[in-house]
Amino acid sequence: MNSSSDVLVIGGGAMGLATAIELACQGAQVTVLSRNFQEAALHAAAGMLAPQAEGLEPGPMLDLCLRSRDLYADWTNQLTELTELETGYWPCGIVAPTYADSPARLAQDAEWCDRTTIHQYQPDLGPEVVGGWWFPDDAQVNNQQLAQVLLQAAEHLGVTLREGVTVTALDTKEHRIQHLQTTAGPWQAKTYILATGAWSQELLPIPVIPRKGQLCAVQAQTKPLHKVLFGPGVYIVPRQNGRIVVGATSEDVGFAAYNTPAGMQSLLAAAIRLYPPLADHPLEDCWWGFRPATPDEWPILGHSPYENLILATGHYRNGILLAPITARLISTLVVTGQADPVLQDFSWQRFAPSSPSPARLALAPS
Ligand SMILES: Cc1cc2nc3c(=O)[nH]c(=O)nc-3n(C[C@H](O)[C@H](O)[C@H](O)COP(=O)(O)OP(=O)(O)OC[C@H]3O[C@@H](n4cnc5c(N)ncnc54)[C@H](O)[C@@H]3O)c2cc1C
Repeated sequence: MNSSSDVLVIGGGAMGLATAIELACQGAQVTVLSRNFQEAALHAAAGMLAPQAEGLEPGPMLDLCLRSRDLYADWTNQLTELTELETGYWPCGIVAPTYADSPARLAQDAEWCDRTTIHQYQPDLGPEVVGGWWFPDDAQVNNQQLAQVLLQAAEHLGVTLREGVTVTALDTKEHRIQHLQTTAGPWQAKTYILATGAWSQELLPIPVIPRKGQLCAVQAQTKPLHKVLFGPGVYIVPRQNGRIVVGATSEDVGFAAYNTPAGMQSLLAAAIRLYPPLADHPLEDCWWGFRPATPDEWPILGHSPYENLILATGHYRNGILLAPITARLISTLVVTGQADPVLQDFSWQRFAPSSPSPARLALAPS
């Protein structure tokens, strides 16, 4: 039996690594078990920090996202101090152009730009753009750089990182996890954190399903864009090194891998309609990932049916944005045993209000 840590984190993606780092900073001994760092949505994402451009309705989810966006500058600075590596955090703002037939959208703390203003503001937009919203406080991070920084920071703080280990089952007795069954033998700790993103249902019957997104990137010689463009059905995210990320499809196809011609065609057509110069840049890369989607598109955070299992999953389209606040809330819960009241809105119990006991949830294996 492997049993060296206070906390075992299952999953080395955005939530697993960010939370492990926060716990290590608070003095906990932490091990992260992850099947494959590279398959994490952390690597696949576009890295927008976009609570306002995403049009989230006022309420607990928007509040959580805004809190997390407020943490981002300090959080990424601390990670850079620890590792001497840049995350590519860039408070560049987001422009959301619209067409004549675009549906109305929620736009808080935003400035409306008419046709003339938006074309002056962002040259070379497509001729069909009739106006748009400017969200000055939204931002972006280079999530692929962030992934490297998180791994380095975790190593630097003494977190044990075990890649290539799949947790195959939770061994439970009554209301507690006894140990984890894994491809590297059983593992035991005082507390366990489930941060397995789109794959969470393989270990616990909570309603998290994969929603596939396909993306691609072109490389510009100069830096023609200085803001994220969040258009109808597509977003265009310029990095500071001239790379431009284009995303993303949203497909309910399970864990079907690969980019598809149909997916890339619809993505590129939407991107070129929004910003025609994109058509001439060299296509550099295309990839895909799986968003962890819940029925209400809010994450599942905090206590679970088991006393010593904490949940940090289901962040759907906003997991890069929500990494710092999730890490803070979950680490505080683990270290102090005190749940921030905000966690109540994100409890797993909203999906099983009449089935609070593990037995009635019929978790496997028992
Ligand atoms: C196309 C796309 C675009 C996105 N764009 C944005 C964006 O612009 N802004 C934003 O905020 N968010 C974005 N997201 C969402 C964000 O990437 C996710 O919400 C976030 O990465 C989820 O983090 P996670 O840690 O829960 O899961 P992941 O990052 O997916 O990590 C899960 C990890 O768990 C491991 N794992 C799974 N099962 C097991 C097991 N049984 N045993 C061991 N390890 C296991 C996996 O190997 C993986 O490494 C995007 C996602 C996609 C797919």
